[in-house]
Amino acid sequence: MARPGWLTPFAVSMAVAEVVLVLAGTRGAYPVLLVWVPAVAGLAAAVAAFRGAAVRTGGDLRAFWRRVAVAMGFVLLAGISQTLDVVTLPWSGMPPIGTRTLCLYVVGTILAITALLRLPAGGRTWRQLLTAVLDVAVVVVTGGIATSQYIGWFMNRFGVSESAWWLNIAMIAIAVAGAVVVVKIMTARRSPIPRAALWWLAPIGLAGPLSTLLMTALRPWPHLNGSAAVLPFVGLCGTLAAHAQHRRLAAGGSSRIAHPSAGRRGSAVPLVASGLISLLVATVFLRTGHLSTVQVAGTTMLLLLVVARQAIALAENNSLLDTVARQAMHDELTGLFSRRYFTAAVASTTEPHTVVLIDLKEFRAINDGLGPAAGDALLTAYAERLTALAGRHAVVARLGGDEFGLLLTAAPGTVDRLLAASAEPLSAAGHELLVDVSIGLTDGDTADAPDSYRRAELALREAMAGAGGRVVRYDATLERQLSRRATVAADLRRGLAAGEFHLLYQPIVNLPDGRLIGVESLVRWGDVPPAGFIPVAEDTGLIVELGAWILDTVCAQAAEWRRRHGPDALRSVAVNVSARQLLDPALPEIVAAALARHGLPARQLTVEITETAVFGGGRALASVTALSDLGVAIALDDFGTGHSSLGLLRTCPVDAIKVDKSFVDGLGGSPQQEAIAIALTGIAETMGLRTVAEGVETVEQAQRLYELGYRQAQGFHFARPLPAEAIDEMLAAQQNRVAA
Ligand code: C2E
Ligand code: CA
Ligand code: CA
Repeated sequence: MARPGWLTPFAVSMAVAEVVLVLAGTRGAYPVLLVWVPAVAGLAAAVAAFRGAAVRTGGDLRAFWRRVAVAMGFVLLAGISQTLDVVTLPWSGMPPIGTRTLCLYVVGTILAITALLRLPAGGRTWRQLLTAVLDVAVVVVTGGIATSQYIGWFMNRFGVSESAWWLNIAMIAIAVAGAVVVVKIMTARRSPIPRAALWWLAPIGLAGPLSTLLMTALRPWPHLNGSAAVLPFVGLCGTLAAHAQHRRLAAGGSSRIAHPSAGRRGSAVPLVASGLISLLVATVFLRTGHLSTVQVAGTTMLLLLVVARQAIALAENNSLLDTVARQAMHDELTGLFSRRYFTAAVASTTEPHTVVLIDLKEFRAINDGLGPAAGDALLTAYAERLTALAGRHAVVARLGGDEFGLLLTAAPGTVDRLLAASAEPLSAAGHELLVDVSIGLTDGDTADAPDSYRRAELALREAMAGAGGRVVRYDATLERQLSRRATVAADLRRGLAAGEFHLLYQPIVNLPDGRLIGVESLVRWGDVPPAGFIPVAEDTGLIVELGAWILDTVCAQAAEWRRRHGPDALRSVAVNVSARQLLDPALPEIVAAALARHGLPARQLTVEITETAVFGGGRALASVTALSDLGVAIALDDFGTGHSSLGLLRTCPVDAIKVDKSFVDGLGGSPQQEAIAIALTGIAETMGLRTVAEGVETVEQAQRLYELGYRQAQGFHFARPLPAEAIDEMLAAQQNRVAA
């Protein structure tokens, strides 16, 4: 059923019509029934609007709108009944209200309250519910005390005897009901009903008391009626509440949106109530010199209720604080302690202790490859392993991401057991995963405690950088290295801006004749060896900028050699590209731009990468593939020293391998020492790869390499890294030799 769009404007016009009628009615008389027309019509509009809301919603929401539609139906009947009263009942100085009418109003009110109380209180604890109930009780008692004092005054104004107890009770009931509804709405922290709809329903609760007040005010004009004046507004508020529900539905908003309350409005209720009653009791006592039994008993009850309510609120607050504290102390996923707790625990240890920090290697790759669910399962499984290994007296924490921490006070051998356990696979989401770890640790006494966490962290960073192996134990030299690094980083940045870097080129030669066929570019910075600044440039990301400069310079130089010595004077010019550069998504563009800028054919550039850089797959492997697609040759540097050499040849587009110096060093020794160098040429040959032997220092090594089938080599035996001009001279000499 479509929502009848005219209901809201209709309800508005009824309310306006009633105001006009009442205003006109204070000027001149007209039939007594006229004021009841907008009243009854307005109520009917609200019933229809509630029914419309019930039809368009479902579940709890539908039940709610259906219930309030029935309640409003009773109010409509009451309105009609009161209209009849006006015609049929005798007038006794006040507008007549029959027992039937009062009953209908009371039933409608009770039904409305029931509907509101039956709203699902999602997420509320019993304490919060009890608080709401107590708030209601406080309002009821306050209303009762006040009414008991002022009821006589009302009766006198109406000119009815106090024995008209039906009216008496109905008034109290309706006033109290109004208060209940308002309180209920105030405390509805998480309701499926749109908040705007609740706020439109709230004023309806005030209709009872309001109409009673209006009755008094309108007494001089017998054809006007307080109930009739208020009822169109009851209809209007109801229609607008239903309208708010429709707008929420139209906005596509979920009907289950939770509304965490901004403040705790309900908590003002007992304070306001106690204040009001104190004033009332004081005024009454000062005026009359005594208090009625109702007032004394009511006030005592009110105080008890307020005390109970505040006690519960206090308990509620405490348990909230507990929850907050627990959440701050624990990691949600694994249930281990949190970083915050761990650092505090370490800093306050009063015993000799060991702090162990653990980073899962390649967790990122597992998480990316198998999905976050598997990643989470792995972390949970590892957390369980750690807890089991660490024993009862350790503090085990997840420090965030894939980092864990252990605070041990007496558990010798834990680190060894940790490492041994790394060889056993963990099962996570149906996968059996081998997880290798980097470990940083520090031992400390009580005096070291405040510093232990930082020290262990330093050691872990060092272990992860791979410089010191899987396990790094903190010592003072680490600290010195680190501060040296910081100085180097600052210096590097300055040097890069000042153009302090230059390139040398080390020849790659043909075997056995030693003819120059290519070069590898090697960066130089004053007398600092590359090993002293390349790792720092990688850590700080400066390598990206430095690398771009190197690539551009190498392409310019290679293009220059082509112009001077012919297109085939050098087969290829190699440039080292580090892992950090491969992670930069812009790298393929940087290379393509450098090639284009200097007009160098892609095939004359070789990019040297290490196995470890691409082992993890992901971004780095994608960069390499993109470079290969450009036509750039890819060489695997330091081949044989990584951990996945052979498998990598299948996944990564490789054109050449550079056999590491360590295998060349073994040549001429025992068959075992030569075995790898022999195996590598075999593999390369079957896979159609170019092989370059690195670090050739003697004529014997060169000889032996040639015998084993190597055709390209590089090393001090042939030439050291040289300035570009020296390469020029070699190329020129080579040209002359060919010409001669
Ligand atoms: P690499 O790529 O393995 O470079 C070869 C290194 O071995 C060079 O050291 C070279 O001078 C040295 N070498 C060559 N022949 C011999 C020999 O017969 N005996 C001995 N003992 N050494 C030899 P260098 O220039 O100190 O470079 C060290 C490392 O620094 C390089 O190893 C490379 O990983 C890195 N590197 C150098 N230049 C760059 C660069 O421009 N970019 C990047 N990303 N890394 C660079
Ligand atoms: Ca290299
Ligand atoms: Ca190398």
